[in-house]
Amino acid sequence: MSGSALYETFARAPLAFERGEGVWLVTESGERYLDFAGGIAVNSLGHSHPHLVAALTEQASKLWHVSNLYEIPGQRRLGERLVAASFADKVFFTNSGAEALECAIKTARRYHFVNGHPERYRIITFEGAFHGRTLATIAAGGQQKYLEGFGPKVEGFDQVPFDDIDAAEKAIGPETAAILVEPVQGEGGIRSFPAASMRRLRELCDKHGLLLALDEVQSGVGRTGKFFAYEWSGIEPDLMAIAKGIGGGFPVGACLATDAAAAGMTAGVHGTTFGGNPLAMAVGNAVLDVVLAPGFLDEVSRKALLMKQGLAAIADEFPSVIEGIRGEGLLLGLKCRVPNTKVNAALRDEKLLTVPAGDNVIRLLPPLTVTDDEIREGLARIRAGVKSLAAVPASAAS
Ligand SMILES: *Cc1c(COP(=O)(O)O)cnc(C)c1O
Repeated sequence: MSGSALYETFARAPLAFERGEGVWLVTESGERYLDFAGGIAVNSLGHSHPHLVAALTEQASKLWHVSNLYEIPGQRRLGERLVAASFADKVFFTNSGAEALECAIKTARRYHFVNGHPERYRIITFEGAFHGRTLATIAAGGQQKYLEGFGPKVEGFDQVPFDDIDAAEKAIGPETAAILVEPVQGEGGIRSFPAASMRRLRELCDKHGLLLALDEVQSGVGRTGKFFAYEWSGIEPDLMAIAKGIGGGFPVGACLATDAAAAGMTAGVHGTTFGGNPLAMAVGNAVLDVVLAPGFLDEVSRKALLMKQGLAAIADEFPSVIEGIRGEGLLLGLKCRVPNTKVNAALRDEKLLTVPAGDNVIRLLPPLTVTDDEIREGLARIRAGVKSLAAVPASAAS
């Protein structure tokens, strides 16, 4: 045996945290880190949010798990709340983002099947996409580094360049079922599809009878300052996968659909053992209590602006390290001029946690509950870390 008993699939930082308090993570030896990684957009309300802790522990003392063979009132309620706050009419709960995407892919194929077009099963996706690590979702994401060595790529995914809507239109054929897109690519480097592109995708889907499926696993549940990122473009999808933030740290995912899109998903055609279990639903409902409270999302937007302005000032001051700022709301990226892994390490030396992404970007995903003071503290640490990497200190250059 080499190393630990665990698969070597993760390049882990040599850090182990014992507890979390809001935006802070505390190691066993008591060192405090400012967490702007947020479990990669999962800890939407920070760590140990009292309302979430209460919801989980209260449910834990009553009932942990029953099968989906029975009614689960918390699931019904969370479904109704997601429907009321989105385009959707129907919800299927999962335990992860990839499973929510699998459900969306199956729902899209099944829609055409029950409408007399079993040949329509292909899905168009965009370069730089990330949809998860199952066999179908690595095929959807199309990234060679995730496909290599895992046998034949799952059939039925056609990839076009990022934000190339003309290429998407050309890729549509008699077998096309849907277009799948992240309104803001997370892992791909915090790259947003312009609102005009989202509207053109909606038009293409309408014109060709395709379903528009969104992956809002990272961008959803308030992260961009709207409940869902698609709201920025004024369009509505037919299908959408969410996860990450909806559980606030408890594993929850969901596939949302219109009645029409979900028409083929009848009794017995899809299922899950753990998806929508009472513990997960208690936490999901508690997350919505906070995120959908009046004024909460406006506060996210206000704080995001504070953060973006501070980051822009750092980018102006240290152009040899930071090329620019990207993203919406608290889904922000620093496009780096030095390797992003170096920036990540320099920020960790300042006891600030971030996440590297594709396209040489550093992701900043603080909890939506981050305070102005915590943002200022984070910006000070980011400035210090970036400064330590600057080839020519600004003071020496001026
Ligand atoms: C994280 C992520 C996924 C996969 O979610 P898992 O819970 O890891 O399966 C899919 N799509 C996007 C956009 C993500 O950010």
